[in-house]
Amino acid sequence: MSIAKVIVDVPAKQINQTFDYAIPSRLEHVLVPGMRVIVPFGPRKIMGFVMEITSISSSHVKLKEVLDVLDLTPVLTNELLELGQWLAEETVSLFITAYQVMLPQVLKSQYKKELVRMTDEELDPAMESLFAGRDIVPYEEFAQSTIRYQKLLKAINNGDISVDYLVKSRITKKTETMIKPAITDHLLEEAYNDMSNKAKKQRELLAYFIQNKEAITKKQLMSKINTSAATIKSLLDKKLLVSTKMEVYRNPYDDASIERTEPLTLTDQQNQAIKPIKQTIADNSHDVFLLHGVTGSGKTEIYLQAISDVIENGKEAIVLVPEISLTPQMVHRFKGRFGSDVAVMHSALSSGEKYDEWRKIYRQKVKVVVGARSAVFAPFENLGIIIIDEEHETSYKQEDQPKYHARDVAIERGNYHHCPVILGSATPTLESYARAKKGVYQLATLSKRTNEKAMPEVEIVDMRNELHEGNRTMFSRKLKEKVESCIAKNEQIVLLLNRRGYSTFVMCRDCGHVKECPHCDIALTYHKNSNQLKCHYCSYEEPMPTICPECSSDLIRYFGTGTQRVEEALTQLIPEARVIRMDVDTTRRKGAHEKLLNQFGNGEADILLGTQMIAKGLDFENVTLVGVMTADSMLHLPDFRSSEKTFQLLTQVSGRAGRHELPGEVIVQTYTPDHYSIELASQYSFTDFYLKEMAMRKTFHYPPYVFLALITVSHPNQVKVVQTTQKIVQSLLNSVKEETIILGPTPSPMARIKDRYRYQCMVKYKNEPTLRTIIQNIMNQYEADIRKDDLLISVDMQPYQMM
Ligand code: ADP
Ligand code: ZN
Ligand code: ZN
Repeated sequence: MSIAKVIVDVPAKQINQTFDYAIPSRLEHVLVPGMRVIVPFGPRKIMGFVMEITSISSSHVKLKEVLDVLDLTPVLTNELLELGQWLAEETVSLFITAYQVMLPQVLKSQYKKELVRMTDEELDPAMESLFAGRDIVPYEEFAQSTIRYQKLLKAINNGDISVDYLVKSRITKKTETMIKPAITDHLLEEAYNDMSNKAKKQRELLAYFIQNKEAITKKQLMSKINTSAATIKSLLDKKLLVSTKMEVYRNPYDDASIERTEPLTLTDQQNQAIKPIKQTIADNSHDVFLLHGVTGSGKTEIYLQAISDVIENGKEAIVLVPEISLTPQMVHRFKGRFGSDVAVMHSALSSGEKYDEWRKIYRQKVKVVVGARSAVFAPFENLGIIIIDEEHETSYKQEDQPKYHARDVAIERGNYHHCPVILGSATPTLESYARAKKGVYQLATLSKRTNEKAMPEVEIVDMRNELHEGNRTMFSRKLKEKVESCIAKNEQIVLLLNRRGYSTFVMCRDCGHVKECPHCDIALTYHKNSNQLKCHYCSYEEPMPTICPECSSDLIRYFGTGTQRVEEALTQLIPEARVIRMDVDTTRRKGAHEKLLNQFGNGEADILLGTQMIAKGLDFENVTLVGVMTADSMLHLPDFRSSEKTFQLLTQVSGRAGRHELPGEVIVQTYTPDHYSIELASQYSFTDFYLKEMAMRKTFHYPPYVFLALITVSHPNQVKVVQTTQKIVQSLLNSVKEETIILGPTPSPMARIKDRYRYQCMVKYKNEPTLRTIIQNIMNQYEADIRKDDLLISVDMQPYQMM
């Protein structure tokens, strides 16, 4: 008897193992590892992944049978099955969540599918009777029929039938009807001659196909020779023409309009950097390269040329870019070089579009995927390179289970496929740079811009002085003056504000009372349109008060600056300025991001005002001034990386100016001009910053000198949270090495979210090979509380979010 070992879709600790199911004879030789199946589990029917097919069961009771198969071809390759095991162990998460994260959403949540007829040729009689004249048949009808799976598999392999998942109520896949001649030319001519002159329309149609043998879409045909569906149908009925269905992938990018580009002749620095990478590709060996190059130094060109080598070797490439910089410009650079060989995985795509892009990879229709974090799981089978651009971006860390970092996954896959991994950045993370310094990674440096232009001059403006000298606006005199002169010269400006939307907190100017969320311990933010105060964590809201609830003063006002307020102030100060505002609010709609950038690129505005999302990836010729409204807003977050993040952001945004012929300039407004991350960013001194920050990290025991594990406990009852965290700390202390530091229990920076108290404990360690097992064992002790008493314990290995 054959047995399937299945990981079932039950997100619970005690279920985190494979279960054995008997394979019924109708599924014998159909099931292979990597397919999803439906199995009975207790009283329910649930989904599971087949891990292994064996003949030996570890169970002594009579096995239940696999009920149904969801995929007719495996959705996870053997490599991904192995990777999932590793991922679950690394991140201390469940196997099921590790596998789910590798698949597009459509496959995660939707079990409903259907059979789609892809041909008009006669099918197997049993299949014909199942379709009964229809083009689409719900999958259940097949499952309830007596037709054998092997028959369906054969039809799928022939391309006669396709099995598709339904995306909500929409049909997942678009097909188009294609028409072509059913018989040879010369028979077609005979038919033409035999046809009565009265059948004028039909003769015209035949005449077309005597001249054009290729298949054409029915739509095009109808408009091209002005014929009707009825005319086409009569020739189809006479079996002179045939119709077939062709799948069209939804393509969010218009490939045809993208101009193809040729490889550039590399500069000396680029040549030096790419040489060892090319060697590694030629040798089929694995190595990690850190490509440290200032913005505009030609890193992307290196990626493109390395990928060319990989494609020539018959292999595939994954390129990760931060979600935020997955701009049309970026996509165009890859499509410009590799055309329709490129798939794009982006969260702004609809779930149907995402599914299409994933299937292009799955069916090996493309060679390159450019995408955000989860594209690191692209199901390529012959990976030749993985590139992570802007490797310092925190969006490469997933903040939900499994809490993985794309860099770690990339290196694991690169190891498996014996291929290079390239990390590129103008401001690498301290972790990566330290590894490169130690020789764990190979370091390549591009110190010059390809156009030999110097980086723009950065001027720091002390906002405290502005206030002392009577300027109460949020614009320093310097910035105002520069903006005006820029506009007068018809040049453009990028203004960065490190906050979201119109959001800002409300404070009484008389007594200092700040309105906070009653559930979350954070300041409520003011939303102008609805005149409401809202909590950004739990969506609690209340009307904006007119008098202070503490002291009854009517001087209660919103504070802080959101993009919308800066926009208002800006247009008041410089009425002639045309402003495009880009933040989460104005870019929520699909395509809005692209539209706004195009408008700015076309010169429809003088100023692009926005949050972090404008800081990277953009390349506009006419931008000569970059202004940073308040450089400090990031410096004071409760996060040991705040200096690093500030340095990165300032460096990045400065790179936006003067990329082309016109020289650029940067103005940074700040209340703490002496802080080293602001000072050194203004001098573009990455190495000095690295040394200074490394010294701080060493003193305070932070990465890269130690590794971190963050354990967060939450529960509605505060006493319970504190006690549980305390016990966890105690258990950890009993099991780890003496040199390992355990901090806590302390309230999380977000001490309360949605009426749940949150406490945390932090582990700082250098070498704890069994730490994951230790943590897992501790968590297992709370299994009953987690299941029955609403206790949550979450583990984040190498956390990026300290909240
Ligand atoms: P980065 O990715 O490091 O910011 P890019 O690859 O975008 O840099 O290069 C910056 C600009 O320089 C681009 O316009 C690019 O086309 C151009 N460029 C890159 N390499 C070369 C080269 N070898 N010769 C001429 N121009 C180049
Ligand atoms: Zn007050
Ligand atoms: Zn709240």
